[in-house]
Amino acid sequence: MGFTELNFFNFRNIKTEALCFSGKNIFFVGKNAQGKTNLLESLYLISYGSSFRPKKEHQFVKFSEKNCSIKAVLSKNNIEDQIGIKISNEKKEIFINNKKIKDRKELFEFFPVITLNHEDLYVVNGSPGDKRKFIDQTVSHCSLNYLDTLRTYKKILKQRNTLLKEHNLQYLNILDKQLVEAGIDIINRRIEMINSFNHDFGSTFNGISDSNYDLKLKYNSSWTGKDPYEVLNNSMKKDILFKTTTTGPHRDYFTVKDKERDFTKTASTGQKRLLALILKMEQSRLISRKTGKKPIFLFDDVLLELDGMKRNKFLEFIPDYEQAFFTLLPEENFHLLKDDSDIFVIEDGVVKKDG
Ligand code: ATP
Ligand code: MG
Repeated sequence: MGFTELNFFNFRNIKTEALCFSGKNIFFVGKNAQGKTNLLESLYLISYGSSFRPKKEHQFVKFSEKNCSIKAVLSKNNIEDQIGIKISNEKKEIFINNKKIKDRKELFEFFPVITLNHEDLYVVNGSPGDKRKFIDQTVSHCSLNYLDTLRTYKKILKQRNTLLKEHNLQYLNILDKQLVEAGIDIINRRIEMINSFNHDFGSTFNGISDSNYDLKLKYNSSWTGKDPYEVLNNSMKKDILFKTTTTGPHRDYFTVKDKERDFTKTASTGQKRLLALILKMEQSRLISRKTGKKPIFLFDDVLLELDGMKRNKFLEFIPDYEQAFFTLLPEENFHLLKDDSDIFVIEDGVVKKDG
């Protein structure tokens, strides 16, 4: 079922206190700047304890107020859980069934929540870090202990960089062993995930856009195919000079290749947008396959980006989902409306159920 209830207190511009959902497809309809994306953001916040917007926590709090909270009821196999987030003085606390949690990882136990919005272009166009984040998120959803491996790696990396800054090089060898162990695990799991993406996303892209590319994700790493200790040794001078570790999985990234060519360098804006959407869809498909959990989608304006033909083909391609939330402008036609749906109209933060 997914989200069945949502309660707000001082959250951004949202004035309505409680919303109930009974459908599988939920539509938030409103003009620009009424609060549609804020509603989706609240669902994301409940799901991950952070925003999909690159903003600081305190901006969640309604202007000129000091604290805010959101509560949601999630229903899965007829079992209901309550998740709450309180933000005050820029401090965030998360509760599951009224018990404060220590690690946001606990939220991953529920549904995989996948956003589709303008910012998804980062998957294709973003920095190497953005691209790593996308793959790391996918792997983390598929196996939670990957988050621990990433945290371990980051911790060792930080220690190593501190030693480099202090020019305290005698303990580097010990750290390098731990760094390589965690790093190789990360690289192998990313490559495995990239290979899974490569099964289908290229043919889906061709199918929807009626094209004939040979698209593949390619993982680029300074360690693969080499002895990581040798790479670390060879880059030691550089590391000392820059006072930071210049090789390893924290510097890796992927590119989208059409045969040997970097596809994203020449692709049109529309092609990049479609590619980003397909990669996000493929991400949710892979997570479902691995975990047996169907995703909850948050579609923020994305359908506007595709021309009519592609939009229909794209909708056919959406994998089976638990629940989906869509934002729409009032003038958009509701041809995608399915039977099992709730429509909410939003005006200046006031959300009303339609019909
Ligand atoms: P669009 O169709 O243009 O995407 P939207 O309905 O998605 O519009 P939102 O992004 O949800 O609009 O923003 C709605 C309004 O909420 C904006 O005018 C914004 O200024 C306001 N807003 C954002 N943060 C806060 C806050 N902390 N307190 C009060 N209002 C806020
Ligand atoms: Mg919006």
